[in-house]
Amino acid sequence: EEFTSKRVRRKFIDFFKEGYEHRVVPSSSVRPRGDPSLLFVNAGMNQFKPILLGCADPRSEMASYSRVVNSQKCVRAGGKHNDLEDVGKDMYHHTFFEMLGNWSFGDYFKVEACAMAWRLLTEEYGIPAERLYVSYFSGDVANGLPADEETRRIWLSIGVQPDHVLPFGMKDNFWEMGETGPCGPCTEIHYDHVGNRNAASLVNADSPDVVEIWNLVFMQYNREGNGSLRALPQCSVDTGMGLERLVTVLQGKRSNYDTDLFTPLLSAIHQCSKAPAYQGRTGEADAGQVDMAYRVVADHIRTICVCIADGVYPGMTGAELVLRRILRRAVRFSTEVLQAPEGTLASLVPTVAHTLGDAYPELNTESERIMDLINQNEAQFLSSLKQGRRMIDRTLSNMDEDSAVFPASVAWSLHRNLGFPLDLIGLMLEERGKMVDKKEMEVLEDEYEKLRFQSEEDDGDRADQLDIHSLAELQSRGVPHTDGSLKYCYS
Ligand code: ATP
Ligand code: MG
Ligand code: MG
Ligand code: MG
Repeated sequence: EEFTSKRVRRKFIDFFKEGYEHRVVPSSSVRPRGDPSLLFVNAGMNQFKPILLGCADPRSEMASYSRVVNSQKCVRAGGKHNDLEDVGKDMYHHTFFEMLGNWSFGDYFKVEACAMAWRLLTEEYGIPAERLYVSYFSGDVANGLPADEETRRIWLSIGVQPDHVLPFGMKDNFWEMGETGPCGPCTEIHYDHVGNRNAASLVNADSPDVVEIWNLVFMQYNREGNGSLRALPQCSVDTGMGLERLVTVLQGKRSNYDTDLFTPLLSAIHQCSKAPAYQGRTGEADAGQVDMAYRVVADHIRTICVCIADGVYPGMTGAELVLRRILRRAVRFSTEVLQAPEGTLASLVPTVAHTLGDAYPELNTESERIMDLINQNEAQFLSSLKQGRRMIDRTLSNMDEDSAVFPASVAWSLHRNLGFPLDLIGLMLEERGKMVDKKEMEVLEDEYEKLRFQSEEDDGDRADQLDIHSLAELQSRGVPHTDGSLKYCYS
């Protein structure tokens, strides 16, 4: 049986719909509705939050949901889940991905959820059980939380080998929606790509050999305002499985980029660029970062298409600023690394629509608008790149030939006025045998860090948003931002 991504998605939906009476709910837009705590929709459960919080409008259709299945468009860039920095470096984190999920709202709980998941993976998709590892919550004394022995026993009774059932703590196996609200232990299913004898030790260890594929969350507590936990009157199940990772497993690949979700894009990029074909190399083996650039462009173009189709346009604040940053990264990697001509990104839009348009038809209907917006933004960015190059050349021609040190003040102005990423300035100077005045730059950096630190709180969610919102303000005070995570985020 050949598992195309379309069949894999379809099979998931049908399994829960036909086999277990789940109602199919369409993906929501990636633009969060009425939820200021989110930059983008980053999980299938986002649209069901009102049900979990017990505040769904009783007259709404949602109020009647008890078993639901869907495939949700998710973006994890900026905000609490920010995977942007991993994209291109590893083979399984994307800025846009599809999350397959099933839910029980006060209906079935742990026993049924585990049994369904196991049956789907091992019988319907035919994944060998010996390649799967499951985790469960080990308990947490500080929080007064017991271990989730119930889930451990369920997995054992299903027939999972004892050495494939592994305990983990709060970080990996306890899920909370936020400071307050429904929460509970989760159990995750991981896939061993290699068949290693030591695979168990690679679970939750950021290893490309053993990758998390499915998270099953059991909401059984409510985190109260005073931090204490209260048992919920009605328990719920919330699951999420990354389609791209599952397809990789089912197509016998090691990398999401080697599946039919990405290969058409990689070859379309190759057609446009002057770079050699994609070879899937990473790290040191990928000299010149050519393969990384392929992955970044393929990842980012999907995100750009999905966001624009859902009405998030590249802009100056919040999610729109994040999208602008993603678009500029894509332009930079495609023009500078892959040496693809202007217009390349827009030319990839039909390929994205072709691979995802069945599931998300707005990609087909909006493709003209998407191409126009990409081209406009690309042209703007390329013209500031050009201006920046001229500024560097002018400065160099006024400099003492023997001096290798480029004035930090000019670098800073490139950065502030033209929105140049600092690492790009470094690269461009390196090509000309020069470098920025490091000491002076560090002074500016320290100054910035101080201000940034003052304006931030420890809470990751808020910090990220403050980062983004305070950027323009910091820049207007003449402070360059040099935080790696924001280096492409310029105005
Ligand atoms: P990871 O530990 O790999 O970062 P996660 O624990 O952050 O994943 P969850 O929040 O549990 O992920 O989301 C449920 C599922 O969604 C994961 O098991 C994974 O299959 C998928 N997933 C999560 N983040 C990404 C991403 N950035 N790109 C692709 N798939 C993802
Ligand atoms: Mg993650
Ligand atoms: Mg994880
Ligand atoms: Mg997880």
